[in-house]
Amino acid sequence: MSLESKLAVDRFAVDEESAHITLADTSGVPRKTLELLVRGCPAGLYRLNDDGSLDFDYAGCFECGTCYVLAHGTALASWYFPRGEMGIEYRRG
Ligand code: SF4
Repeated sequence: MSLESKLAVDRFAVDEESAHITLADTSGVPRKTLELLVRGCPAGLYRLNDDGSLDFDYAGCFECGTCYVLAHGTALASWYFPRGEMGIEYRRG
C-alpha cells in the first residue's frame, strides 16, 4: 500500500477556531531555518515565497513535532497538540 493510499484513509478534523501551530514574525529568522521547515515538514505545509516570506497552513498537520524541533522559539510562536477531537485521526498506524 502506498503512502498516499495510507494517508487517504486518515481523517482530519480542522479546528477552525484555534490554530495549534502559529508562526512568529519570521522577518529576522535566517532563511536556512525557513528552508528546513519547508524540507522537514512531511505534510508539506510550509512554503517559502520568492520575497522570503513563509506561508503555513496547519490544516493537514500530522502532529509529528518536526517543526517544533526545528524552529520553536524562532520561526514558530506556538506549538500545541490540537484540542480534543481535533486534528488527525490515524487509521493505518
Ligand atoms: S507537526 Fe509535523 S506535519 Fe505538522 S506542521 Fe509540523 S512538521 Fe508539519
